[in-house]
Amino acid sequence: MKIDLSRSDGATTSFDVVLKPADIDLETDLASVEGDISVTGEVSNEDTMTVVRAEVKAPLNIDCSRCLAEIPTDQDFSFKNAFIAGDNVSDEQEVELDLQDLELSFAREEEVDLVDIVREQIILNLPAHPLCKEDCKGLCEVCGANLNEKSCDCKQEETDPRWAALKNLK
Ligand SMILES: [Zn+2]
Ligand SMILES: [Zn+2]
Repeated sequence: MKIDLSRSDGATTSFDVVLKPADIDLETDLASVEGDISVTGEVSNEDTMTVVRAEVKAPLNIDCSRCLAEIPTDQDFSFKNAFIAGDNVSDEQEVELDLQDLELSFAREEEVDLVDIVREQIILNLPAHPLCKEDCKGLCEVCGANLNEKSCDCKQEETDPRWAALKNLK
């Protein structure tokens, strides 16, 4: 769905779209889309900018940051994103003052694709350090064994800062 940034007539248009996994290439190894993504929201063509508000529901598989196991996750979030196109960019500073809680983007084109916005928002909303379980043991840095499934005889360097802190207490 293309969003027209050149309109400034104050119109608000609702939309309710379903994006197929094939529509969205997340372009990251950290997560993959596992099913249809539902995007419900509205586009407001305001004076100096176009504001997109939407709720996204995306079934994802997110990789555990320690052992790389896939974690099935129903990502569910809403976002507000304001766009300023072409001629209005000179008003940028003035607009920025009005925005406050809005995330502002500048577009060189007169239109943006909803798919691109949703892709960016999904990536922004990925957890920073996803874990398959709180005490995931991760992969052995030496032999690559999944330490949740088996132990190995490699010499491990203690890299976890919490362990280092405990050692210092003793
Ligand atoms: Zn894990
Ligand atoms: Zn090992």
